[in-house]
Amino acid sequence: MPLKSKLTNIIVLVLMLVFPLCVCAQEVGDALRIKTVVIDPGHGGKDPGAIARNGKYKEKDITLSVALKLGNMIKAKYPDIKVIYTRSTDKYVELSQRAAIANRNKADLFISIHVNSAKATQARGTETFVMGAHKSDDNFEVCKTENSVIVIEDDYQTKYAGFDPNSPESYIIFSLLQNMHQEQSIKYAAHVQGQFAKGPVTVNRGVKQGGLLVLWKTTMPAVLTELGFISNPKDCSVLVSKSGQEQFARRLFNAFEAYRKEMEKGAQISDASVRPETLEQDKGQTQSVEPEEEEFYAVQILSVAKQLPKGAYDLRGRKDAKFIKVGNLYKYYIGGFSSRQEAAAELARLRKSFPGAFVIHIKGNKIVK
Ligand SMILES: [Zn+2]
Repeated sequence: MPLKSKLTNIIVLVLMLVFPLCVCAQEVGDALRIKTVVIDPGHGGKDPGAIARNGKYKEKDITLSVALKLGNMIKAKYPDIKVIYTRSTDKYVELSQRAAIANRNKADLFISIHVNSAKATQARGTETFVMGAHKSDDNFEVCKTENSVIVIEDDYQTKYAGFDPNSPESYIIFSLLQNMHQEQSIKYAAHVQGQFAKGPVTVNRGVKQGGLLVLWKTTMPAVLTELGFISNPKDCSVLVSKSGQEQFARRLFNAFEAYRKEMEKGAQISDASVRPETLEQDKGQTQSVEPEEEEFYAVQILSVAKQLPKGAYDLRGRKDAKFIKVGNLYKYYIGGFSSRQEAAAELARLRKSFPGAFVIHIKGNKIVK
């Protein structure tokens, strides 16, 4: 074989080997990039949502106004990001439809905007929900209220698999649910609450978990934010003012920017980390393990935005739970096992109290992918 064709063969072979790897690495990075955002203004049309005491102001108008403002801010700064609204006018869209719109458009983030209401007029403040089992009566009340709109939909019992928004039993399914996007949802929710703490309503009720139907079937990081209480005179005056709505949108946008940055940073890390590893394997090299690094398997039970007191309810009283801080998240885990099998055995026991638990691999105080 002449030297020239031999060389060509080698080049082709090298390209064949390297090129698919690059595409693969690109895909890993791309999965974390935000290309599409779906903004969901709560309620609409025949469903006004919560109504102010004077009967003049409705949740559906506030949510639409803030949603459109947020969408415009994203479009103005990031023309490449697709912004889709579940509604952009005063019309009713079924809860299941809202999730379907996000799924159909392969959204990377779903933001549902709502306004709270309570019998007690002194209740006020902002809170942001991610999907999960509710952990307090207050959270349950919010879920009941937000879910109860389905009863005005035709044939809701078939559509929501017999779900009864007012029956606590119906909510059991959410405690069994494992949401693979919960961690990212919490990240965005934590940014939102961090922003809201700066105003226009500074009472921060934090990041919560609840069985919210609108988030149930979404297949991407998804949050439902409650901008404040329309039933509280102070919150209400902010909620209905133009400058208040503008500020809420600005806060949600700032949180979006912070979240986007965090995700894209993750994308760059995975771009960089996949390439050398796969190329090294090609050369037949094994990865070296630093002997002094502590390495073990454990069961991650919870990922939360703030440090919890020892034996907290969220930890089901487990005093042996430890945490690793990753970004602004506290990842609580139990155990220190030398093999994945041992951790898996513990996982089976822990799943009863922590349905979303999974095995993690810790090395040198870091979670290994
Ligand atoms: Zn609502």
